[in-house]
Amino acid sequence: MSKTWEKVFYVFSWITQGFTSISPNVYGKLHRMHHAYADTEKDVHSPKYDKSLIAMMLRTDKIFKGIRHGTFQLEERFCKNLPHWEFMEKYAYNWPTRVLWAIIYITIYYFAVPQNSLWMWALLPLHFLMTPLQGAIINWFAHRVGYRTHAVSDTSTNLMPLDIFTMGEGYHNNHHAHSGNANFSNKWYEFDFSYRIITLFNWLGIIQLNKK
Ligand SMILES: [Zn+2]
Ligand SMILES: [Zn+2]
Repeated sequence: MSKTWEKVFYVFSWITQGFTSISPNVYGKLHRMHHAYADTEKDVHSPKYDKSLIAMMLRTDKIFKGIRHGTFQLEERFCKNLPHWEFMEKYAYNWPTRVLWAIIYITIYYFAVPQNSLWMWALLPLHFLMTPLQGAIINWFAHRVGYRTHAVSDTSTNLMPLDIFTMGEGYHNNHHAHSGNANFSNKWYEFDFSYRIITLFNWLGIIQLNKK
């Protein structure tokens, strides 16, 4: 995508991830390392090497912060051709902006939750933890439960035949087998909803899909 669209998506991902939004630049580096070292000792998150889900998430967070602050040494090949916007890197992913998100969330709940449905406030923590929740679903469960179509060397699985909850990202075994393919569905019954959006963006000229 162009640098302008890159900025648009920087902002969009910041809004949709809110309180737990993470830098696309750092995430790109981290995710490339996961593919390169999947389920080995150097993997940034692996249920095979981490004792519990929480232990895995905390270790990932530590590496994430290390990459972000330049204290974690990573290979040059993981750093090329990634999105980068200095302004967002500087101001969007720190505690002052998180406090801002917290105020926004609580304000929305305050005005949106009806008096007779106060139980809805119980959903608030889910909004505060959107990104780690999604991370846990894929990085832990999509390396433990589900079915495997491809006999790859890592433990990746496809979470469910009809992935309605993560819109196609749950076809994680397919993704590990063909990581360069934007379409995660490999069987007739698998439907990658995100891929439809990607093809739409490609058709509109917002992005350009790699023909390979
Ligand atoms: Zn994986
Ligand atoms: Zn991937």
